[in-house]
Amino acid sequence: MNIILLGPPGAGKGTQARKLVDERNMVQLSTGDMLRAARTSGTEMGKKVAAVMDRGDLVTDEIVIGLIREQLESDQGGGGYIFDGFPRTLAQADALGRLLVDMGENLDCVIEMQVDDDALVARITARATCGDCGEVYNDLTKPIPADQKCTNCGSSNFQRRADDNEDSLRTRLLAYYKQTSPLIGYYYAKGDLKSVNGLASMDDVADSISEALA
Ligand code: AMP
Repeated sequence: MNIILLGPPGAGKGTQARKLVDERNMVQLSTGDMLRAARTSGTEMGKKVAAVMDRGDLVTDEIVIGLIREQLESDQGGGGYIFDGFPRTLAQADALGRLLVDMGENLDCVIEMQVDDDALVARITARATCGDCGEVYNDLTKPIPADQKCTNCGSSNFQRRADDNEDSLRTRLLAYYKQTSPLIGYYYAKGDLKSVNGLASMDDVADSISEALA
C-alpha cells in the first residue's frame, strides 16, 4: 500500500508516518528529512537549499523529485511507502504518479490531515525532536522528559528546527495554501482523498487513519 500524508506544517504528518512505519512495516519517505540530511552532511545540494528552507519557501521541484526517484529506485518497499511532505506542488504530484506507474505501483490513498492555523502556530513553536531517532516532542503536549533522555532511544540529543519559528512558519503556511492545498482538489477528483481531523489526540488521529486505510 502506498499513501500520501497531506497537510500544513505542524499537522502531525511525521508523527503519524512514524506510527505507520512501526505498525505496518511501511517505509517513510520524507523529503524534509532528506533535505535536512543533505544539509547536515554538507553536500552541494544541501548548501543550495539551506537558505530556502530556513526562510520557509519550497525548494525546486527538480530537487525533490530527484530525491524521491532515487529512493524509489533503491526499492525498499516492504509494506509500501508513506510519502510525508511530498508532493507539495501539482508538478510533484504528476511526477509521483508517473514514477509509481513506471514501477507498476499504485497510489492507494491520500490522507488529508485537517488542522486550524492557530493550533499550528502553537504546535510548531513548541516542537522538538530527538536528533538520533526522530521521536517528536512538544513542550505543551509531550514535553522532553525531566531526565533529558529520549523515551524511545535514550539519547539526549534533542533538537529544534531552524525553521520552527513564527516568521518561517508564516512563509511555510503561505507556501502550503498557494502551492500545496490545490492538491486536495486534485486528489479528490481522482477519488483518492480521505480527510481526518488532525487536531484530535495522536492515538485518535492514528485510529482515523487506520479506518481511512481499511
Ligand atoms: P518539512 O520537514 O516537510 O516541513 O519540510 C521542511 C522544508 O523542506 C520545507 O519548508 C521546504 O523548504 C523543504 N521541502 C520539504 N519537502 C519539500 C517538497 N516536497 N517540495 C519543496 N520543498 C520541500
